[in-house]
Formats: sequence, C-alpha cells, structure tokens
Amino acid sequence: MSTLALVPVHWGIRDRDILAADQSRRLGLAMVGLDPHIEPLYDDYDYARTLFTYAHSCDQLLIVEHDIRPGPWTIGPMLSCRHEACSTPYDCGTLEQPVISALRYLPGTREAVRVEEGEEWAEAMSGLGCVKYAGRALAAIRTYLSATLPSWNRLDGGISNALRSAGIAHHLHWPKVEHRRYT
Ligand SMILES: [Zn+2]
Repeated sequence: MSTLALVPVHWGIRDRDILAADQSRRLGLAMVGLDPHIEPLYDDYDYARTLFTYAHSCDQLLIVEHDIRPGPWTIGPMLSCRHEACSTPYDCGTLEQPVISALRYLPGTREAVRVEEGEEWAEAMSGLGCVKYAGRALAAIRTYLSATLPSWNRLDGGISNALRSAGIAHHLHWPKVEHRRYT
C-alpha cells in the first residue's frame, strides 16, 4: 500500500516557519519512514484542491498540518491501525479557552459535544490537523471532493459529513498531539 504524508502550510506562514514545520514533521514522520510533502497553500480553496490531488495519488493518506508537532509515538500507531479514518486530537479554539479538536454525539441525539481524553470515537467531527485516511474513508473523500471544493474552514466539517454518510467515524488515538499555538 502506498502512503503519502501531506503537510499543508497556510499562505500566511513565513519561510523560516515552513522550515521549522519541515523539521518538526521529519521528527515524527522519519520515525515511520515517511518523507513529508510540504505543500504551501495560496488561497482559501487550495487546501481542498491539494487534498483532492493527494487523495487520488495514494492508498493511505496522512495529513499533519504545519503547526502540529507529532511525537515519535503519534504517527506509527495511526498508520498501522486497522480502522480507515483515524485522528489524533489536539487543542484548538481560543488561547483563553482551548477545546479539543474532535466531537461525538450525545447518545440517542444529534447534539455534538467535544470528546474527553481517552474516548475512542468521534462520529460527529474531527479537525484535519493529524489524521489518516485509507480504504472506504479515502474513497468517500475522493467522491466528496469530486463534487465540491470547499474553503479551508469548511473542509473538516465537509469531510466528517461525507464520512458519516458512508457510515465511518473517526477512530481516536491518544495522547493528544502538540499544537504549536497552545504550548
Ligand atoms: Zn485508529
């Protein structure tokens, strides 16, 4: 199976930060024999365009956003996991009130709430900061992005909806991964 590791880099990031992102990616990805593909994004829709291309170019896709710092324990278990959509959560939201990047539903409802550390599934939504897609999950993402290329800020929700429609939830891996703004 071919695996690609995509590191999307926001267009506002300066060159030396891209370099820092590259180095931090290599720490986590080199451990599992992966070279990161650093892809600068130039407008609101470039993330979806880039993801469309990558989703059609491999059997297993790992996304590690530029400000996520995987540790040596982060990537390997996701890649070897038998589930088709895996996510390692991280802090996001405001610096004053960070929230976790994955949501589940309250039992028997469609009310989405943030997961607690250690929970296994995020059937409502996951951020794209540190995720792995393979098999039926990658196929659902290809189909979704063939129909629409959303803005970056709607991409995580759109992908989570497409996966849920295919009966796929994000399988969660712990501990949380470091998100640079929040440390
Ligand atoms: Zn998993």
